[in-house]
Amino acid sequence: MTQFDNSYARLPDRFFAHIDPDPVDAPEMILFNDALADSLGVTERDAAVFAGNVIPEGAAPLAQVYAAHQFGGWVPRLGDGRAILLGEVVTETGRFDIQLKGAGRTPYSRNGDGRAWLGPVLREYIVSEFMAACGVPTTRALAAVATGERVQRERAYPGGVLTRVAASHIRVGTFQYFTAQEDAEAVRLLAGHVRDRHYPQARTMLDLYREIVAAQALLVARWMGLGFVHGVMNTDNTSIAGETIDYGPCAFIDAYAPNACYSSIDRNGRYAFDQQASIAGWNLAQLGTCFVGMITEETGSQDAAIEALTEVLNGFPALYQSAWRDVFAAKLGIVTPRDGDEDLAQDLLTMMAAQYADFTNVFARLGTETARDEFTDRPAFDAWAARWHARRDRGAEGADLMARANPQVIPRTHRLEAAIVAATEGDFTKAQRLARVLSAPFAVADTDRDLMAPPSRDEIVPATFCGT
Ligand code: AMP
Ligand code: MG
Repeated sequence: MTQFDNSYARLPDRFFAHIDPDPVDAPEMILFNDALADSLGVTERDAAVFAGNVIPEGAAPLAQVYAAHQFGGWVPRLGDGRAILLGEVVTETGRFDIQLKGAGRTPYSRNGDGRAWLGPVLREYIVSEFMAACGVPTTRALAAVATGERVQRERAYPGGVLTRVAASHIRVGTFQYFTAQEDAEAVRLLAGHVRDRHYPQARTMLDLYREIVAAQALLVARWMGLGFVHGVMNTDNTSIAGETIDYGPCAFIDAYAPNACYSSIDRNGRYAFDQQASIAGWNLAQLGTCFVGMITEETGSQDAAIEALTEVLNGFPALYQSAWRDVFAAKLGIVTPRDGDEDLAQDLLTMMAAQYADFTNVFARLGTETARDEFTDRPAFDAWAARWHARRDRGAEGADLMARANPQVIPRTHRLEAAIVAATEGDFTKAQRLARVLSAPFAVADTDRDLMAPPSRDEIVPATFCGT
């Protein structure tokens, strides 16, 4: 039996609504993450538990309330419309939320049905576990079950429930909700909860804000290093713990284009690849406004509070740039990054963009000295490579760093789509194969090397859908 300790449920009633998952017809386990379950001390394996039909002992199911800026527009109340937090487990590496996504209607469902279909469930399982395998801070996936029910979207699809594991599900939007309510006491309680749970080293609320800002800088730099386009960086999808959350319309870049944008609803490219750092900064500015009241108490005046918060926020670009440099230095096998390395990396990216080179395969093949083959203008690559060879660490340490920074295989959109199409027809083998291969993306067996190939011209999937 799993041991729960539900600290969020001990916050005041206005933080959430108690609600049980709505049982489904015929739960069937499609993917289960044994290693993660073991590390969490989760002993249940029954699909009925991960479909919400059986509530484990000690769980305290609830839906959290939050607000958000979605695509820059203010939404005063959102909340978990189709996700139910079962409870928290405490492990040696910290406290984790266990949440069922697609578990039925809640008081925050608005017009939604509270359900998820199998496509986004499998996509999130596979992609979030790939991110975890790459060492990127992320929510995790514990289980994906089919519900045996149909979910109506543009058409009827098979339903699914994802069990998501997160350091917490507290978002920038959670702070925004209580700030907009002018509920200063709730903001203070939430901030205290966040400090105890995620940033115990923060001595003041300004420290806490600084920690959250730094975590986002590292996170977005890690995304950039994988060619990851989140696609829906709304403030409800910005985790206070600094994890990647919400894998709705995300995608990885194949042929490199700095302004890549795949989400069908992101018509203006607000969340394009090269906008991600500035959007993270925008989201953090929204969070900063939520901290003004608390920091006014710390500094004694609102002017001083705003000045202090602004100074922290203004530090974000430099933190991000230095994290970006370190991420790309590792990809290039540079053990001790220094000023100027960002230019070496940027020049490679510029060349990749001009020649439509495959983001993942260029970096993967640097390690075997075959990246040249990914370029059409070979002399241009050779000129860059001469600079690179003069700078990189050629010993085992540099090689090892590159091997751990450059996945050989990524969740390519056309592969995910094919696995989802097969799953909607009742064949889960493609999804299961992707989950297996992508959970160890730095070493690919010969029999799985087909997954490394970029899409052919007619395999390209130009847009992704939130698929809620
Ligand atoms: P997302 O775009 O996934 O970040 O979701 C935005 C908001 O819409 C969240 O509050 C979700 O809980 C809610 N939502 C999305 N899909 C559904 C659904 N099928 N039923 C109810 N609420 C939903
Ligand atoms: Mg979301």
